[in-house]
Amino acid sequence: MAKRSKVKTIGELKASGYKPAPIREEMRRNLLAMIKKRRNIFPGIIGFDDTVIPDIENAIISGHDIIFLGERGQAKSRVMRLLVNLLDEEIPVIKGCEINDNPLAPICKRCRDKVSEEGDATEIAWLPRQERYGEKLATPDITIADLIGDVDPIKVAEGRYLSDELTIHYGLIPRTNRGIFCINELPDLIERLQVGLFNLMEEKDIQIRGYRIRLPLDVFLVASANPEDYTNRGRIITPLKDRYGAQVRTHYPVTIEDELSIVEAERKQFGGDEFESYVPQYMKEIIAEVTHLARKSPDINQRSGVSVRVSIANYETILSGAIRRAVILREKLAVPRISDLPYIRSSTSGKIELDSFEETKEDKVIDDLIRKAVLNVFNRYYKVYELEEIVEQFNGGLTVEVSDRMSAKPYVRNFKEIVGLTDVVKVVNDSERLEAVASAVEFILEGLHLNKRLNKATIEGKTVYRH
Ligand SMILES: [Zn+2]
Repeated sequence: MAKRSKVKTIGELKASGYKPAPIREEMRRNLLAMIKKRRNIFPGIIGFDDTVIPDIENAIISGHDIIFLGERGQAKSRVMRLLVNLLDEEIPVIKGCEINDNPLAPICKRCRDKVSEEGDATEIAWLPRQERYGEKLATPDITIADLIGDVDPIKVAEGRYLSDELTIHYGLIPRTNRGIFCINELPDLIERLQVGLFNLMEEKDIQIRGYRIRLPLDVFLVASANPEDYTNRGRIITPLKDRYGAQVRTHYPVTIEDELSIVEAERKQFGGDEFESYVPQYMKEIIAEVTHLARKSPDINQRSGVSVRVSIANYETILSGAIRRAVILREKLAVPRISDLPYIRSSTSGKIELDSFEETKEDKVIDDLIRKAVLNVFNRYYKVYELEEIVEQFNGGLTVEVSDRMSAKPYVRNFKEIVGLTDVVKVVNDSERLEAVASAVEFILEGLHLNKRLNKATIEGKTVYRH
């Protein structure tokens, strides 16, 4: 759509041939044009190409309102905000209107009066699409006044008719007229408000303080909910549930690769460090594996879910552990190791809910996830029976000490002592840098331990692998 900002009055708008369209028509038209041009409608959304996105597109082509069902951290909010991409770059509204009235068909009393007085000279303004999105988290304290509107008691006292919209102080939804409004966690909205919402969507009228006021808004309504809350009997009034044309089920990343792509895109990055940092692929996979295992764990409440934010925070935490070590030991390269993993307890625990009442159990649940994740990732890279040469040397009395506080040098000294380890390290590490080799050595030793080929004892913050 070419910029039409030069058009400043209703008369000029009519002369330009521009015809405002209802929002569903506008979104549908833009969506089809984007599909035709093979444009990415949801940039930055990973792993939904074959599942969630086709459902959304069908809903929009059908003109259906959408409810997104999914556990926390499934990019629902982001997907909903990206629907703004389907709006025209800007649309004409009557200048100064609180509810973005269409210049050619105003609904508010103020604008209808204005247009009948000023006619084609009525001024218009152009509303950019970013300003046509509103959202609200449903909490028990939201009122009809917040969401829909309230009558102004002063104006009522002045003797205006209550059905006169000039007495209304508009709430969030009318102010998003001709835009997209999103209600997060819809089942938490009290029943009276759900009724109000339904009336607004279906009957195009609102009831405020017992008065019925006609308000034919044009809003594309989306909502999100936890699937269990939504299907729970009584949480959503049936007519409102029926009103939503499409239920779109979101999900967590299906693959470790998708999980890691999101982590790479979302993690905080800082510039200006005096050292380099590098996270080996197997450490990344362990972080993603911890999250994937947590999503299947019977000890963790799956109703609230395990967000991708757990992976992001854990990745940042092990990298920070490595950076801290590099600074303390004056090493040039920060590389996370297995012995940094216990630190993810702090970045995991606030983001999961246990299905147990014992508080002390939390660290144990997380430690178990870490061990299982390391074992799974290790066994994807190695077959234990191929590492017997190394195990034999431990059987002959070799011991190796590791710690998250140790510099990389002693690791590498050990590494050179152990016959056959060079080739084994090469499977996961192609760097010559000591810090990277140290991390790989620890991964291999821990993998052998978890496969019950080596013993492990932790004394005073140091871990010793031995027969
Ligand atoms: Zn108006």
